[in-house]
Amino acid sequence: MKITTPQLGGKVALVTGGSRGIGRAIVETLAADGADVTFFYRGNDEAARDTIAAVAAAGGNATAVKVDVTDAAACSAAVEALYERTEAIDILVNNAGVTRDNVLTGMTDAELADVLATNVSGVFNMTRAVAPFMVSRRRGTIVNLSSVSAQKGGRGQTNYAASKGAIESFTKALAVELAARRIRVNCVAPGVIETEMSEAVRDAAGDEVKSRILLRRFGQPQDVANVVWFLATPLADYMTGQVVHVDGGFKME
Ligand code: NAD
Repeated sequence: MKITTPQLGGKVALVTGGSRGIGRAIVETLAADGADVTFFYRGNDEAARDTIAAVAAAGGNATAVKVDVTDAAACSAAVEALYERTEAIDILVNNAGVTRDNVLTGMTDAELADVLATNVSGVFNMTRAVAPFMVSRRRGTIVNLSSVSAQKGGRGQTNYAASKGAIESFTKALAVELAARRIRVNCVAPGVIETEMSEAVRDAAGDEVKSRILLRRFGQPQDVANVVWFLATPLADYMTGQVVHVDGGFKME
């Protein structure tokens, strides 16, 4: 069998939280493979401009729109505007996520609410806005970012772990709902990846954590983007409802 490239030429992709970290690597990777990528970002205009410039320098095409995924009306309006322009949304990557770590007994209402609003409601808001456009065209693929925390307990992460467990369950239920419409829904569960999100953990206990990762290193955003790319391409056409772990063997330790 010959694997043709690009896999994503002419496809339209939408990525949330695309201006930095893993989201930025996903934007750059999908665009480098020929997709027309729009990414939503919450607030950092400079980081969004940097991402667009990096994509353009590599010969790709990306557009940034400032959309907070916790705002359902803003998600719907921005998704409709995107569809009007592109007449297709082939790929949705629900990447935006936050942590607000604290032990349960000290956890504030805001720390719980922020995590659930972004990581769970944000995924609902975006997917509910995009799915009708995929359903009407009987094609599409959705990739949700979970975390190793969904399955491997971590101190101070009850809110985050619960949110990512919800995303994995959401993925499986939606895969059942949308399979008949030829839409695939999968999850990628990263381990400890070198981004701003994991900085505090790496600073506080880096060597100890690394010693529990079979491959003895933290992941890079590109390690995750490669797998998201694969799931978004027709190469993964027979995969749906799956959680793919990209964690250097951390979960199985
Ligand atoms: P990051 O903090 O570097 O980036 C997160 C991105 O999401 C940022 O661009 C941020 O602006 C955006 N975002 C947050 N809230 C938003 C909102 N309400 N609306 C729109 N955008 C919003 O984190 P990252 O490490 O790149 O994480 C990306 C995803 O991967 C997250 O879902 C995270 O939970 C998951 N993840 C990360 C790690 C890790 O070690 N870094 C591990 C497991 C899972």
